[in-house]
Parts: sequence; structure tokens; C-alpha cells
Amino acid sequence: MIKFAQIFETMKRFSLILFSLVFTLSSFAKEGMWIPSLIKNLVESDMQSMGMKLSAEDLYSFNKSSLKDAIVHFNGGCTAEMISDKGLLLTNHHCGYSLIQSHSSLENDYLTNGFWAKTKEQELKNPNLFARFIVRIDDVTESVLKGVTDAMPEAKRQAIVDSNIKVIGKAAIEGSHYNYIIRPFYYGNQYYMFITETFNDVRLVGAPPSSIGKFGFDTDNWVWPRHTGDFSMFRIYADKDNQPAEISNDNVPYRPKYALPINLNGTQPGDFTMIYGFPGRTSEYLTSYAVDYTINKQNPNRIKMRDISLDIMGHAMAGSDKIRIQYAAKQSRVSNAWKKWIGQNKGLIANDAINSKLALEKRFVANADNSITSYGLKYTKILDKYKALYSELEPFAFSWDMFIEIYYYGPEIIRFPMNMEKLNPEKLKDGDLEKMKETLRISAERYFKNYDLETDKKLLSAMLKQYFSVLDENMRADVYVTIQNDFGGNYEDYAASVFKKSNFTTLEKVNAFLDNYKGTKSFKKIQKDPAYQLTMSLYNNYQSKVRPDLVRLNNDLNLLNRTYMEGLQNLLPKDKKYYPDANSTLRISYGIVDGYKPKDGVVYSPFTTTEGIMAKRDTTKEFTVPERLATLITDKDYGQYADKDGTMHVCFIASNHTTGGNSGSPALNGNGELIGLNFDRTWESTMSDIMFDPTICRNIMVDIRYVLFIVDKYANAGHLVEEMNLVK
Ligand code: ASP
Repeated sequence: MIKFAQIFETMKRFSLILFSLVFTLSSFAKEGMWIPSLIKNLVESDMQSMGMKLSAEDLYSFNKSSLKDAIVHFNGGCTAEMISDKGLLLTNHHCGYSLIQSHSSLENDYLTNGFWAKTKEQELKNPNLFARFIVRIDDVTESVLKGVTDAMPEAKRQAIVDSNIKVIGKAAIEGSHYNYIIRPFYYGNQYYMFITETFNDVRLVGAPPSSIGKFGFDTDNWVWPRHTGDFSMFRIYADKDNQPAEISNDNVPYRPKYALPINLNGTQPGDFTMIYGFPGRTSEYLTSYAVDYTINKQNPNRIKMRDISLDIMGHAMAGSDKIRIQYAAKQSRVSNAWKKWIGQNKGLIANDAINSKLALEKRFVANADNSITSYGLKYTKILDKYKALYSELEPFAFSWDMFIEIYYYGPEIIRFPMNMEKLNPEKLKDGDLEKMKETLRISAERYFKNYDLETDKKLLSAMLKQYFSVLDENMRADVYVTIQNDFGGNYEDYAASVFKKSNFTTLEKVNAFLDNYKGTKSFKKIQKDPAYQLTMSLYNNYQSKVRPDLVRLNNDLNLLNRTYMEGLQNLLPKDKKYYPDANSTLRISYGIVDGYKPKDGVVYSPFTTTEGIMAKRDTTKEFTVPERLATLITDKDYGQYADKDGTMHVCFIASNHTTGGNSGSPALNGNGELIGLNFDRTWESTMSDIMFDPTICRNIMVDIRYVLFIVDKYANAGHLVEEMNLVK
């Protein structure tokens, strides 16, 4: 009895310590994604007080090499970083996934087995892949807004802004090989210019098998505790003068201005961390009306569309190895956001997001007086205007959301015929026909490599049916009437007929069609093709019934958003430091290594170890552990990569504010050394795109020591580790 009481006491004390640790640390969680050139004035001292040993100048400088020179925008959607002075680049497995997939076949199944170039000659070239660095960031607000007045209509304002942007950008890069990006911040209250340098010869160096790089697959995606080795490696090549060059055998490994040192000491709870990268998109300042739309209309409907396509692809992939490879990247593309939206909705509902936005709006109005703002709108009236606008906007916004799902994420038979539009005699110059036919043959070959007709047919009937069932009657395309009248509303019959009659369903048919294609007369045949007609019906419907109102209402919304954003900063300055929403530009977020309490009675610790890999191991595809990895783990053969206590850490979480696009971002310690690779957020955190809750929002990183352990011990690619600068 005494023993039990003692154990109970100890447990109680232990959990109290754990709880207080979680909660005291949580107060250090930091919302915000900061523009690197503004760190000095805004958050440098805060970062230093939390453990950063560097100055803002070390993070971002135009005059000397700084951390920013190691940060790469990877193909425009992910982040990557330089980890050797020979151009070696580290990013996520899921960021390199479609490239790994493109080199994979049944004979060379790199998705399943991994890929490691033993020599530079074996590194694989990737047409259409680019790596972009940021050279400089400038505030160009004044010059972008030159000539703009409050009284002018939004469209006119935008036209002036666009034309100013062209002039400013062109002048900034004149005489250089650089490019520029100018983006609005704070809904157009400010503008920043990013001077960029882009490399187009980026080769695949290594990737672990999916059973490591994607361990846990969809089941574990967006989930903590996590055990995924989500990394892959590439190398940037440049010409002999270290300048960007198109893909060529003459190119040599790029020598970056800065490569990140790699720290092998691991982290402790409470340690400072920062994430340097290109967060894609957040909407932190949405009003309650927009959040209501997201929770109750947009998310449930797009989730439903993807439920359908994932079910169909999943069955097809499970039944055939060929389709599994063909559809791997497509399935991931659909499932990633699908699962995020499910988590986002759970989080927003559990945290009463609509009411908390309403409360903020109430305080906003209470603090406003009747004075006119600089944009000619009264703060006191904005929320009423939002309300009216959203009720008008919703049907158009919803049509657009559903159009994205059917057209861009739906059956490919809907997108493919758009290529044939390139043969339209009205757009094609005389003499270009043969060249265009050849281009189309090449793209068709690439397309059909990853295409399964039966799967796409099922996608067409099921998704189209769902799409039309949720659209307002007056928003439906003509093809809906055809399906009702000619097929009695039977979508399977309709899909079967499209696939039977269309010329665009197999490579052989497309090639035969192109061989016989003679110009204007043949284009009429394209116009009669049922797949082309379907494409055009959906596309033209969007263009005529949705887009004009959407553009008009979005113009009105821009003005409201800009004013509301300005108003928040003016009326509620003490609420928080207002950082700009993510917009795929370079940012830094910071926080600490920290667990959290996802729900009552559960506390998560911030680390996972290889023990968890073995505990999750089973024979399903999702949790297969390669035999070689299992042996290394059982033998505890971790080399220099083990933690002080002898365990091998796999992943860790921290309170950095991140989003999609931060995938592949370096996690850095207070000295700016690489300690991990950001790849995900916890499910409870996915709402952070709309509302960041410091007590539960956590980003997930793979420990850099696990990455190197896999490279060195598992893949025997120690020659890559030798290129790196390791700090112990
Ligand atoms: N895993 C995420 C993504 O793919 C990264 C994130 O959103 O945190 O977008």
C-alpha cells in the first residue's frame, strides 16, 4: 500500500512537472512569419531573449554572406537549403516526390527502393526543376503606390500598381541575370521586392525508400507522434563561372555563398529554434464571415470531392503495382490538403474560431470612431459591408472552389483536351503546325506514362456527379443538361460514352489523330470530340457565369481587407505584433522545442525515437520497415548520430509558426546551425493558417541526425556526409 502511495506521489509530481513544463514553455510559442530584412526592428531582441545568439544581420544581409544565402525556393512550392559548398541541397522527400516518381519505373522503382547516386555522373537531371535564391529584399511601397488615390476604383488602382511594378522591377534587374518578384503585404498596405537568382540545372542525388521518407503514409500525415524520414537530396549545377545555366553536361556543382553547418548535438525541450523558408499562404486576418464559409461550406465540400477521388485511386493502386507507381504522386497531391482540411475544421470548431473572430470584430467596432480612414471607408462600417459582401460573394466563391476540385484535381480527361486547344488555327501561326504536333506528341507520351484509363473513367463519373449535385442550378455548365437529356442523368453511361468516342484516351489514339491532323478541318474534329466538349463546357461556364462576378466582388473585398488590416493595426495595436500573411516569400519564424497537450488527459513529448518506428512496424504498406533499418535499430548501430542517452531521435516538434511551403525549410538552432528539417504540422495545428493557438500549434521536423544516419548508415552514402560541415 505504502509502495503504491509512493509511486502515485511520484507519478503525480512527474506529471505536474511535465504539465507545468508544457504550459510555461507554451507561453514562449510565437505566432508570426517575419520578413528577414525587418527582423532587426521587429523581433531581434525577442529572438535573442529566447536563445538566439546571432544578430539580425547574420540572418539577412545584402552586404555580406548571411543565412539567407543558404535558403532555396525549391521549384516554387517548397523550401530547401544548401548543406555543402558543392551545391548539395536538402529538402523533403515529399517535395522531391514527383521528381523521384518521374525517374521511377517497374524496373527502377526508386519510390520503393530509394535512390542514391554513388558518383556525380549518376545524379539524375530534372527538366523543369528550379532552385531560386533571394539576393535582396527592398520595401518598394512608395514607388508601387505612386499615382494611386483613395478615390479611384479598385481595378484602376490595380492597373496602376501593376504597371508601376513592371517599371520598378525592370529597373532593379537591368544589366543583371537576376529576376524580381514584387508582392503585396498586409493586403496591399505595403509592397516588397525580392531580387532573385534562379538555377535550372538541379539533379537528384538521393532519396530514401518511401518506407522511410513517407513512413506512416496518409495515416501519419499531419500527425504527432511521427517517425518519418521525410528528406531527399539534390545538387545545383552552374556553369564554370558559377553562374546559372541551362541543363548541360558541361555544368559543375554550384558553389553557394553560404552552406549551413550541421549540428549533431541534438536539442532539449525549451531550446530556441527558427525556421527559415517560403511559407505559402495563410489567412490570419479573415473575418468571422470568411471563417464561417471555410468551416461550413468550403472545407466540407472539397473534402467530399477528395473522399471520392481518394477512394477510387486507392482501390486502383492497391490492385496493381503499375497503377501504384503511376498514381503515387497524384494521390499524394490530393490527399495532403484533404487531410489538412479535415484537421483544420476540427481545430477551428474545437477552438470556437467563429466566435473568437466575432469577439475581435466587436472590439474593433467598439474602438472605432466615425473618422474616415485613409482608404475612404469608415472603420465603423466595415464589418457591415463585409457581411453584405460575403452573402453576395459566397455562391461565386463556392463555384470557383468546386471548379478547382473538378478541373485541376479531378479526372485528367477534363484537363488533357486543353492541350489540343494549342492547335486552334485562330491561335496557331501558319508554319508552326508540325512543330506544335511534335510538342503535343512529347507531352502526350509523358502524360500517358502515368495514366490509367479505367481509373480515370471512374473518377469522371463519380466526381462529376458530386460536382453537379452541390452546385447551384444556375451555376451548372451545359454539359449537365446533356447528361440529363442524353443519358438520363446516368453519369457512368456518360463517362463510358466519352471514353469510347474520344480521341484523347490513349497514346495510340492521340498519335494517330496527330498523324492525320491537317489543320482547320481537323480542328473541327477536336471541337466535336466529347472530352474536348466537356472541358470547354466546364471552362467556358466558369469564364462566363462565375469569373466576372468573382473578379468584381474580389475587387470590393480587396478594399475591405486592406482597410480592415490597417484598422486592426490602428485600433488594436496592443493585440499583437501584426505580421503579414504568408505569400510564398522568404520568412523567418521562431519558437522553442516544446511538447503540447492535444486533448484532456494527453500530453505529448517533443521527441520521437527509433523505438517508435519498431512499435509502429507492421506488414501494411504504410508501416513497413526495411529489414536493413530494422537491423540497425535492433543493433543500436547509430554511429555518431545517437543522442547523448544512446537513443536515436527521429522527429521533434517546436512552436514555430509554419505552413505549406515551409516543407523542406531548415530548422536552425540559436547559432544558425541545422538541427532538423521541417516537413509538417500536427493535426491540431493545421488551423494555424487561419488562427494560431500557441498552446497547441506545433511544427514537425525530422532530426538532422536521423537524416544523416539514414544517408550514412542505411544507404552507405557517407561520401555525401563528408561534403558537409558537421559541428559537434
Ligand atoms: N506537410 C505540409 C505540407 O505539405 C507542411 C505544412 O503545411 O506544415 O504542406
